[in-house]
Amino acid sequence: MLSVVVDRPQSMAVREVPLPAPAAGEVRVQVRYAGICGSDLHIFHGKNPFVSYPRIIGHEFVGRIESVGAGVDAARLGETVAVDPVISCGHCHACTIGRRNVCRSLTVIGVHRDGGFSQYVCVPADNAYRIPAEIADTCAAIVEPFAVAANATARTGVLPGDVALIYGAGTVGLTLVQVLKRVYGVRTFITDRLDERLRLARQCGAAEDEVINTSVENLSEALQLRGVDGGPTLIFDAVCHPSILEEAVRLAAPAARIGVLGFSSEPSAIVQAELTKKELTLAASRLNCAMFQQVIDWISRGLIQPEHIVTHKVDFRQVAQAFELAEQRPAESCKILLDFSGA
Ligand code: MN
Ligand code: ZN
Repeated sequence: MLSVVVDRPQSMAVREVPLPAPAAGEVRVQVRYAGICGSDLHIFHGKNPFVSYPRIIGHEFVGRIESVGAGVDAARLGETVAVDPVISCGHCHACTIGRRNVCRSLTVIGVHRDGGFSQYVCVPADNAYRIPAEIADTCAAIVEPFAVAANATARTGVLPGDVALIYGAGTVGLTLVQVLKRVYGVRTFITDRLDERLRLARQCGAAEDEVINTSVENLSEALQLRGVDGGPTLIFDAVCHPSILEEAVRLAAPAARIGVLGFSSEPSAIVQAELTKKELTLAASRLNCAMFQQVIDWISRGLIQPEHIVTHKVDFRQVAQAFELAEQRPAESCKILLDFSGA
């Protein structure tokens, strides 16, 4: 089979590798589409501290089960599945309190073990979620980023009267705006410095007056101008620069919750008095905790529309060009899917 292998930082190739056999409890998936994520770029550049090389990357993908390992019901053969990349031990503290995504011995498909940028991949059967026929493969490929948004909103909670602010209209911001507007129905402002991204945000459900270009407008003034009195009550940092959290803490309304998603190793300078005075909650969110079924249901019910963030489909053998597109032309591209059908 052909796979996208990152041999070491800055060195990636599409290469013939042996077809893996599914172990007990696993299924082998023939991949149809896989989404390129910022974290794939980080692995390529050697900026992911968790990864070991060489690695077949990719943790957002859909495909069909074409082989099952021992103990897996053969009735699953032929199922179209989206694969949750989170594999946990089931018995550590985090796992026993229902927080398997921060398991002590967490394994992430495409990071700690081989992933979905491959014609075939073996995954635990329990991680493979059946996709109903009415959901297109292109949508099912990116259940994972929506599961990230579902997790972040579950961590903060969403209250009916919330006024939300999302920093950044990249993939994370655009999945969040869909969940906040379309699932929870709360007023949601979203910022970016690129008009193209803000146009996508409007497609994802943001109203005309809910998008704020922060290269043109001062954020605090823009919110006041739009009638936000006292600051947002729910904030998500989907930019993840250390300065954003500092500003979020200043802007937040009393009793606000702030969703933290960044992996920056640079510290943010947070004033404790701002946290305490307003009794703010910082809710960090990593990956997703068993959110796939929820997201699949949302897509089935038409509440969220993954297709609105997909800008490109590229043959997987052109992965290097696709990475370059993602990095060099952010105004043109958002979610890029690798297409594995043409092999
Ligand atoms: Mn991702
Ligand atoms: Zn565990």
